[in-house]
Amino acid sequence: MSAPAADVIVVGAGNAAFCAALSARERGAKVLMLEAAPEEESGGNSRFTAGSIRVVYHGVEDIRTLVPDLTPAEIESTDFGTYTAAQFFDDMARVTQHRADPDLVELLVTHSFATLNWMREQGVRFIPIYGRQAFKVGGRFKFWGGLTVETVGGGPGLVAMLTDAARKRGIGIRYQTRALDLLYDGSRIEGVRVREDGALRELRAQSVVLACGGFEANPEWRTRYLGPGWDVAKVRGSRFNTGDGIRMALEIGASARGNWSGCHAVQWEMNAPEFGDLAVGDQFQKHSYPFGILINADGKRFVDEGADFRNYTYAKYGRAVLAQPGSYAWQLFDAQALPLLRDEYKMRGATKVRADSLEELVNKMQDVNPAGFLKSIRDYNAAVKREVKFDPNIKDGKCTVGLTIEKSNWANTVEQPPFEAYSVGCGITFTFGGLKINPTGHVLDIEDTPIPGLYAAGELVGGLFYFNYPGSAGLMAGAVFGRIAGRSAGEFALKR
Ligand SMILES: Cc1cc2nc3c(=O)[nH]c(=O)nc-3n(C[C@H](O)[C@H](O)[C@H](O)COP(=O)(O)OP(=O)(O)OC[C@H]3O[C@@H](n4cnc5c(N)ncnc54)[C@H](O)[C@@H]3O)c2cc1C
Repeated sequence: MSAPAADVIVVGAGNAAFCAALSARERGAKVLMLEAAPEEESGGNSRFTAGSIRVVYHGVEDIRTLVPDLTPAEIESTDFGTYTAAQFFDDMARVTQHRADPDLVELLVTHSFATLNWMREQGVRFIPIYGRQAFKVGGRFKFWGGLTVETVGGGPGLVAMLTDAARKRGIGIRYQTRALDLLYDGSRIEGVRVREDGALRELRAQSVVLACGGFEANPEWRTRYLGPGWDVAKVRGSRFNTGDGIRMALEIGASARGNWSGCHAVQWEMNAPEFGDLAVGDQFQKHSYPFGILINADGKRFVDEGADFRNYTYAKYGRAVLAQPGSYAWQLFDAQALPLLRDEYKMRGATKVRADSLEELVNKMQDVNPAGFLKSIRDYNAAVKREVKFDPNIKDGKCTVGLTIEKSNWANTVEQPPFEAYSVGCGITFTFGGLKINPTGHVLDIEDTPIPGLYAAGELVGGLFYFNYPGSAGLMAGAVFGRIAGRSAGEFALKR
């Protein structure tokens, strides 16, 4: 039998994998990470993110722990608010329609702040998200929706800092090394079989952490589990997350868990490429729709654009767009909303039309029924409660009354030129179904017994997200469960 490659093998090199590797190393284990991608494309979906992370905090002092170089001027000019554990629990329960596994949610919420502090100790730096999560009111930034910090340099920064931390601690990373199968003798995990440099190899270890993403980049599995039409969705991030980790574990008897027909999917530039483009990152997204309206090919509205803060609706509205005729929609804004549009709307090459009248605008769109479009906007404008004041920082209750599909908040009329419309399709972020783990990160078999030596973290863990997702819980989940799985895998390996 060949010599062990390491005590612990971590499959993947995204946020969850790095947190697992650093945590196992902290226990004293020798750790090897396997990354399917070449180094220049490595880092998985984590690298495509904005690096924003949902975390429990109780005010500026907690933020100062995470961002020690916060200046007195920044503190003076900012209302950071709070985001309590109770709010995080509520958000998880509400958006998942009370289906999220309570044990996993408990860990996610109660370990969130400590885990970010641990990441800081590993070398990850955070800053407040001034650009996208706070609006200025009376000269002060005010955060809304509880989402307050992001990693320095966004997703690329996060992956660079984690890679640096891993290298400094002697963790090996083998790029272009795709894990294919688990080595399993029927009672314990013995390593993984990989393809590397065009050859098949067996890499032995005492324990293995699977942290290699969901199946969002696999059109065949998307169609099989998410349903018809999902084969044509665009992938927002990595092309390497094809469900390998889930498949490998299921093949040796692991239990499937969670919302296998569900996923995180957003409104995404209509003509974006099939997979994410690292040079563009998340800029194909279009997240200012709560301040405008959404229209389909028939010229009809089809969702409540202002049902909640963007953070709580964006992850399910990609699916709503996919379900429309032709699987596309247009986001429409007038002069009142244009100053509020996020930076991504300035992206060069966006599929966009602009006009001084709605008639001219719909003519330019070409693929929307003009009569339906003009009627929808007339009906919408007539239904807006004009007397209620618009306020983007709160759920302002400025709504419509009497429409089949109401708009609940931020319902400004669409009547002041110039008008702009942006064409969006569906961009899938990650899938919700995955493996069943216990609170120590151990993968469970179909009889709910831990598979000795097998752990999992990140997107491929099922049971946390159902139907929808509170924005920026993905990185936090990867970090919390990666850290737990790595610690368990390290301890298990050293005991063996
Ligand atoms: C455009 C975009 C923006 C996002 N923005 C945010 C945000 O701001 N905040 C947030 O919390 N979440 C965000 N998310 C979601 C977030 O990216 C994920 O929840 C999180 O990064 C998942 O981490 P992970 O480590 O599980 O997976 P990943 O980071 O995807 O890592 C999986 C790794 O496994 C590797 N891999 C796959 N198969 C194999 C194999 N067979 N062998 C070896 N390696 C393999 C991949 O190459 C990759 O390195 C965003 C996602 C996208 C796509």
